[in-house]
Amino acid sequence: MKGAEREMRKPLERQFRIVSNFACLNLLNTELMQHGRRIDLLSDFSDLVAWLRAVGVLSNSEAREAETRWTGTAEGESAFAAAIGLRAALRTFAERLAQGKPVSDATVDVINSVLASRPSHRRLVRDGQAFRTRLVPQAAKAIHLLAPVAESAADLLEHGESSLIKSCENPSCVLYFYDTTKNRSRRWCSMEVCGSRIKAATYYRRKRASQAKAATTTPVRAAKRPD
Ligand SMILES: [Zn+2]
Repeated sequence: MKGAEREMRKPLERQFRIVSNFACLNLLNTELMQHGRRIDLLSDFSDLVAWLRAVGVLSNSEAREAETRWTGTAEGESAFAAAIGLRAALRTFAERLAQGKPVSDATVDVINSVLASRPSHRRLVRDGQAFRTRLVPQAAKAIHLLAPVAESAADLLEHGESSLIKSCENPSCVLYFYDTTKNRSRRWCSMEVCGSRIKAATYYRRKRASQAKAATTTPVRAAKRPD
C-alpha cells in the first residue's frame, strides 16, 4: 500500500497495534485483520522505521536518521527483508508457545542471527557514588536496527513464562500478547477493539435470542390466559 492509497486511510502510525511490552510480539502483530481481511502494515523499509519508532526501539531523531541513511538503498531493503523473515519466525515462535509446544531450533537460529549482527561494547558509567556498566550498541548498519526486537524475543524466552503468551480470543483477530495481569485473565489484544466488540456481539446475540423466545412464547401464554 503506497502513497495516495495510504493517505486515504488512517496514518500508518495509528494502525500499528502495540498490545504488548515485548517488541517481538508487536512485530508479528504488524500483520492483522481489518474489515475481515488480513493486511500487512509493513511494505518497505520506511514502514519498518515507522514501526520501530512507534514501538519505542528508535527515538524520533534516530528514526529520521535511519530514514535518511537507508531508505531506497540495498542495505535498507535487505534489513526490511530480514525484518519480514524475523517476523515469520516470531509468528511460529508465538503460535508454538501459546499452544504449549517448544520453540524450534530454526526459530532460535533466526533470533541468534539477528542478535549476532550487531556489535556492542560495555561502557562503565557513574551511578551516583557507584558504577554500573551499560551495553552500548553500534547502529552502524541498517540490519542492526532489528537487534532490539531479537533481544526482546531472547528476553521473553529466558525470563518470561510461555503460558502467558496468548492469542486474542476474538476468533477473527490474529494478534498475540503477553499477559501481565495479576490473575492471568487477559483475553483480548485490547479491550477497546476486540473485548468490547465481542461483548457487544454477545449482548446482541442474547438480546436477539430472548426476543425470539418472547415472540414464540407470548402467544402460548396468551392462549393459556383465561379470558
Ligand atoms: Zn484482538
